[in-house]
Amino acid sequence: MKINIIGGGPAGMYFAILMKQADPAHAITVYERNGPNDTFGWGVVFSGKTLRNLQAADAESHAEITRAFAAWDNVGVVRGSEKISIHGNSFSGIARLQLLKILQRRCEQLGVQLAFLSEVPDVDSLRANCDLLVAADGVNSTARRQYSDQFVPRLDVRPNRYIWYGTHHLFRGLTLTFRENDAGVFAAHSYKFNQTTSTFIVECDEETWTNSGLFAMGDEETRRYLEQVFAPDLGGEALLSNNSKWINFLLVKNERWFFENVVLIGDALHTAHFSIGSGTKLALEDAIALFDSFRRTATIESALKTFEATRKPVIEEYQAAAFESMRWFENARDYMHLSPIELAFALMTRSGKVDYEDLKRRDPAFISRYEKAVGSRQKAADE
Ligand SMILES: Cc1cc2nc3c(=O)[nH]c(=O)nc-3n(C[C@H](O)[C@H](O)[C@H](O)COP(=O)(O)OP(=O)(O)OC[C@H]3O[C@@H](n4cnc5c(N)ncnc54)[C@H](O)[C@@H]3O)c2cc1C
Repeated sequence: MKINIIGGGPAGMYFAILMKQADPAHAITVYERNGPNDTFGWGVVFSGKTLRNLQAADAESHAEITRAFAAWDNVGVVRGSEKISIHGNSFSGIARLQLLKILQRRCEQLGVQLAFLSEVPDVDSLRANCDLLVAADGVNSTARRQYSDQFVPRLDVRPNRYIWYGTHHLFRGLTLTFRENDAGVFAAHSYKFNQTTSTFIVECDEETWTNSGLFAMGDEETRRYLEQVFAPDLGGEALLSNNSKWINFLLVKNERWFFENVVLIGDALHTAHFSIGSGTKLALEDAIALFDSFRRTATIESALKTFEATRKPVIEEYQAAAFESMRWFENARDYMHLSPIELAFALMTRSGKVDYEDLKRRDPAFISRYEKAVGSRQKAADE
């Protein structure tokens, strides 16, 4: 089979690896507009379950990925001078660039053609020239736009602003920090992803962003402002920019996932808010699901049908949980009256995927502390 793939991100390269590994006769080319060392962003996170899926799909790249990992088991919630830790949440982080390098090496080893610095402006001619065209071209997908009549995308620009930084302050565990000033409420999502660097994403609502004057600040001034807001948390370290810009989260869904010989995967197909840290996980698991569909069926048409039928319910469930989590952060200022322990409980249960019983199993000490706090508040209200 001749396969063209637009986008050398995690989704596109991982699908290429799985197909080529299963049948070296496939001729596979990945078209990527950037060079092999260009990337945006800092670290990405995976759960223990995703790692097991990666191990089953391709043991070689899994071994390399886990060698490069920073692992942790706690979520930290910081409010005022208190930090609450909740244990029993196993996650790992890796630099996005390092992940892409591992996948690039694996593609080269297997004989996948990687065409860097190859922007695809005309998807139609690429599609005419292959058996299968996989559009793994990210959140602003050209293929999705060009074939919007077929895919029927639903795009929802969310109101909060966020910006993706790095820092050399090491946050051990996924740390959610809340700071307030005259302008409003700022939340930071941070985690260490190698020996020297952490991801540090700052999020705030539109009102905070407008009141603070951030909309009129350049890169340097923005970082100085946010370093001040998070001064108690950064240990004197600077925020590091990597083409960092304020963005509104774009929620992507598509009515149809494929037509004829074209299929969408990864962020081009769907997005899930970064607060549940699953963009890269879903991109890689899409690649696994699409590959599995080809393994189980005889024609391209039936494989694409199987992919949509089996994967859509999984994605819908994720997007529903991510939506609740995103809404929580959009309304963060409504939770700022809570005590740190109550805030931590509200955060842990925000997406509906984790409940009181799960937390009791994972970290009984946290739950007994929470119960005490709620009990004494109740007692005070009754008196
Ligand atoms: C602030 C923020 C924080 C995030 N945090 C996390 C996290 O903690 N954990 C996590 O797992 N994920 C996270 N993500 C999400 C993650 O970055 C993406 O979800 C993931 O990379 C999706 O993979 P993909 O392969 O579908 O798309 P991408 O990684 O976006 O790759 C698409 C590729 O296609 C290329 N391309 C696009 N158009 C063309 C064209 N016309 N021609 C040629 N090439 C093209 C692009 O250059 C790009 O390399 C975060 C994202 C943001 C913005």
